[in-house]
Amino acid sequence: MSNIVAIVGRPNVGKSTLYNRLTETRKAIVDDFSGVTRDRHYGVAEWTDRTFTVIDTGGYVAHSEDVFEAAIREQVVIAIEEATVILFMVDVTTGVTDLDDEIAALLRRSKKPVFVVVNKVDNNMLQSDAAIFYSLGLGEIYNISSMTGSGTGELLDDMLKHF
Ligand code: GDP
Ligand code: MG
Repeated sequence: MSNIVAIVGRPNVGKSTLYNRLTETRKAIVDDFSGVTRDRHYGVAEWTDRTFTVIDTGGYVAHSEDVFEAAIREQVVIAIEEATVILFMVDVTTGVTDLDDEIAALLRRSKKPVFVVVNKVDNNMLQSDAAIFYSLGLGEIYNISSMTGSGTGELLDDMLKHF
């Protein structure tokens, strides 16, 4: 069984951008079912000499704020069940939101390794802003820019230690 890395977090933090970067040039292996599954994309990624499965969550079809939050929570619960490692992505430009705090509470109860990935740290001036995410209570934070790829190497190196 392949190792599974699930990317969770609220909309617009950059989950799909990271997913696309990690699975670049590789085909999605499973796609397009109904309901919850439709909201998940599975792809294959490679780092150093390791191959693993990446799950992008949240192509949510939201009809109300409540449905929306419930859908995100559901994705987090599934990730806790099936993933080897969970990447919890947040956005340095917005700081910690209520929904971030809610997701963090779910993840703190999980026994799976959780990596707090602070995205959109596109330049050094934003590095110090990222420190606020230690308040999520999930330990170390990884500052990355999914757009430029900056910081992703260190994240992947540490992630692979859990495989
Ligand atoms: P998702 O909803 O979490 O999947 O987020 P997306 O991957 O769709 O990205 C949401 C928006 O954030 C898009 O406009 C991206 O171009 C932008 N974005 C993603 N990663 C970065 C980043 O590292 N830096 C900046 N500045 N923008 C980013
Ligand atoms: Mg997305």
